[in-house]
Amino acid sequence: MATLCFNAQCVPTRLDVGDFQMCDCIGKALQLGMSRRGFLGAGWKLAGAGIPLLVGLPASAAENEQKQAAIAHAREQAKGHDTRLVLLGTAGGPVWWPNCDREGISSALVVGESVYVVDCGNGVGKRYKQAELGRIDEVSGMAGMENLRGIFLTHLHSDHTIDYFNLFLYGWYDGLTAVKQPVQIYGPGRRGEMEPVFSIPGQATAAPPPVVNPENPTPGTVDMTNYLYQAYALDINDRLRDAHRPDLRSLMQVHDIVIPPISGFRSPNETPVPRMDPFKVYEDENVKVTATLVNHFPIWPAFAFRFDTDDGSVVFSGDTSPCDNLVRLAHGADILVHEVIDTSWVDALFPAPLGARETAFRQHLLNSHTSIDDVGKVAEAAGAKTLVLSHIAPGHAPRANLVRAQRNFSGQLIIGEDLMQIGVGRKRNS
Ligand SMILES: [Zn+2]
Ligand SMILES: [Zn+2]
Repeated sequence: MATLCFNAQCVPTRLDVGDFQMCDCIGKALQLGMSRRGFLGAGWKLAGAGIPLLVGLPASAAENEQKQAAIAHAREQAKGHDTRLVLLGTAGGPVWWPNCDREGISSALVVGESVYVVDCGNGVGKRYKQAELGRIDEVSGMAGMENLRGIFLTHLHSDHTIDYFNLFLYGWYDGLTAVKQPVQIYGPGRRGEMEPVFSIPGQATAAPPPVVNPENPTPGTVDMTNYLYQAYALDINDRLRDAHRPDLRSLMQVHDIVIPPISGFRSPNETPVPRMDPFKVYEDENVKVTATLVNHFPIWPAFAFRFDTDDGSVVFSGDTSPCDNLVRLAHGADILVHEVIDTSWVDALFPAPLGARETAFRQHLLNSHTSIDDVGKVAEAAGAKTLVLSHIAPGHAPRANLVRAQRNFSGQLIIGEDLMQIGVGRKRNS
């Protein structure tokens, strides 16, 4: 199996084009000293040069046509499959991308009638209903969430979690009370130590920034959920008393993912991505879910998940740079859903000529995502049959750029679009 990973300190070894810290890009660019006007101006300048970048250009009619045709084609192909991958949201980053109809990152794996959601980006509830993953009441237009069995959070960046609790607060009124058993939720536990402060090259080390919630500055999924209960206590208590809703907490069972002992692991800051074998997170009559650590430093832990079903296997990369652990997890998978960053957009943020400081900073930004050129290499190394691009950053990246992923991949490439459905394995019903 090819070696694609970074070492434990996240330094690229064999890949010359890295990735990109998209989740925090804008903040860090401003931190670097680029004014907001300059930041936007760079985007405009390059967009004016014919490159649809930071500010986003409206997709052409031809591109929209291609997109709609791809969605319709995939939906037709998915018909009759008992197991389906449904892309709910396909954009990466905590940004409302301009000229882009992608919602935040979220996917669903549907097995029979059971639904398993991976990540809960902005708009997941709306897309869940639009995808008609349950029975919609014809009169009220409500319900349709009774089949939700599990939620799996790859990591706790806001673009993967912002609508997690929303699924329950709104779902409470929209069919979720019909679930037969509490929704099983699995996500990262506490990081346990604060990440280091990024020192900007050429800039004197500043005092550490203030710490939010110092008694627990790196909360995990159980902590986050408990804080959300507290934050929404007024609303929840009102609906319990005034509307006699069942206890919201009875609809959810939340688990921090327990990482097994790993040889050579010392700490999240020293050895964030030790070589490891996939480990089991969850299993029921439909799916077996395994996970591995991937490289999204300094966020830790960051997981990729693999779902094995009777019909086939689907792997979700989460946010990561090219990573051996992921290649191992995705070995022989039927479908690999992988994040991707269009580095031409990064180039717009750091137009040439770059000084040493900008070069170092750009590389820092490139250390936790996967470029269009590299994502095909990852899928090829894993031997995945189909590669689906999602968590697309920027959200308005042109399809003409994204198709370049095919150059390094001999399998089927699908550029993910919101509400696209993809059948897994053989058809059971025609
Ligand atoms: Zn992300
Ligand atoms: Zn992230």
